[in-house]
Amino acid sequence: MTLSRRKFLMGTGAGILAAPGIAGLVAGKDGVETESIREDSLWTSEVPSIPPQPRFEGEREVDLAIVGGGYTGLSCAYYAKLLRPDWSVIVLESHEIGSGASSRNSGAVYARHVGIDDPDMPKRGLNRLRNFIESQEIDCDFSPASTLTLLKTERAAADARSTLAPGAKWISPEELRDSAGTNYYAGAIDEPDYFKIQPAKLVAGHARAALQVGAELFEHSPVLNIKSGKPALLSTPQGKVRAKNVCVATNAYTPRLGLLEYKMYPLHQYSFATRKLTNDEIRGLGLDRWDLRFEPRMLPVTFSLTPSGHFFVRLVLGYASHNSGEWHDIEGAQRLAKQIFEQRYPRIADIGLVHGWHGVTGHTTLMKSIAGPVCDGNIHVSVAYNGLGIMPSHNFGYLTACRITGQADQDLEFLTGVSGQLPMPGDFYRSLMLQPFMKFMTPV
Ligand SMILES: Cc1cc2nc3c(=O)[nH]c(=O)nc-3n(C[C@H](O)[C@H](O)[C@H](O)COP(=O)(O)OP(=O)(O)OC[C@H]3O[C@@H](n4cnc5c(N)ncnc54)[C@H](O)[C@@H]3O)c2cc1C
Repeated sequence: MTLSRRKFLMGTGAGILAAPGIAGLVAGKDGVETESIREDSLWTSEVPSIPPQPRFEGEREVDLAIVGGGYTGLSCAYYAKLLRPDWSVIVLESHEIGSGASSRNSGAVYARHVGIDDPDMPKRGLNRLRNFIESQEIDCDFSPASTLTLLKTERAAADARSTLAPGAKWISPEELRDSAGTNYYAGAIDEPDYFKIQPAKLVAGHARAALQVGAELFEHSPVLNIKSGKPALLSTPQGKVRAKNVCVATNAYTPRLGLLEYKMYPLHQYSFATRKLTNDEIRGLGLDRWDLRFEPRMLPVTFSLTPSGHFFVRLVLGYASHNSGEWHDIEGAQRLAKQIFEQRYPRIADIGLVHGWHGVTGHTTLMKSIAGPVCDGNIHVSVAYNGLGIMPSHNFGYLTACRITGQADQDLEFLTGVSGQLPMPGDFYRSLMLQPFMKFMTPV
């Protein structure tokens, strides 16, 4: 049985929008963005590039084709080859391996899958990631991170203080002023159990591990179309792949591939960092005591000191029409980052912000990832980590590999596919809703 994109959408509850003609109107300008330029992030500028991989050309039959070469796709490739060394496993990446969110994030690792209430499954996921980093000897600065949740209003501070979790500690505004270099907040919680990593080093380690076990990686090989069936047929500009199994690991970019466009949407983020600070500056500016600092707002803001001595802010910009993975108003993003610094860390704003980089995260209305089989059962997705995806992407990459190869695991029950997801309206109404909402919720 074959399953077209239209039937796939119907299966996901968006069938009415996928009727001929209407889909075009609702989705507007779509199609995989193959020409977009991805500038270095601060992280990628600090480490050697992942060795270039070939373009995919010609025709192939494979056991497993993975679309997308970030943490999810590379983790799936690595574990699938470990579980089935006899299988042919290829990863098709539209740009450079690791050039999506996996090398652009804030590097905060926590034992949590957004949308999953089970307390133990994320702990197993974190252990898996830790074991992978250790066994592959990936030097990605993985270490415990001292972490603050910063509270702006007296009310939020009082609430948080009265419900402290075990191991958490209240930090007064005076202590923040003296030891954290900011007098903007009504208090903070010192959170236990966070870790930090250098994202670009981690994704390079994933690529090396996948290559070592015999997976083949292809760059500048965007998958333009997936035709379901057994085998499924994947088209790239210069080739065709017949795949017994497919893993779609394209996270925020997925709707542009014509999949899940009524179930998830990309949100744009921008990070802006200082030049490398000296140890004296770090101490003098109050940046030495906590590595990660979160403002838990509707549009969250993260601050962090990198292992190499840059202090950065990450902020949420919003939604760009047509599910685009590109953001054009970079000057506006830089202005916003500067205003945020002027309010919270005026002395650092004076030092100047020199590195800026953009990234996209995949989101769903109910803040629940989408992972599991779709279509005929041989096409699997693992996307939409709702902003906290470093550990979940590795973990779901592993679980997807188990599911595809038939390996048992107690956590396979969490791969529920698209069930339990609320459909999104089409692009026109989505833009109408999300763009003013983002402006209204701005963190300055
Ligand atoms: C600014 C920012 C800060 C973040 N901070 C944190 C944090 O502190 N902690 C945390 O846990 N998470 C964080 N995240 C989220 C985390 O980075 C992601 O959830 C995670 O990297 C997702 O990995 P992935 O492999 O699924 O997606 P990606 O790394 O985005 O990989 C998807 C890949 O698919 C490729 N692709 C897309 N379409 C196609 C196609 N048609 N054909 C072939 N290839 C295609 C893309 O080029 C891309 O390389 C952050 C994300 C951003 C952007």
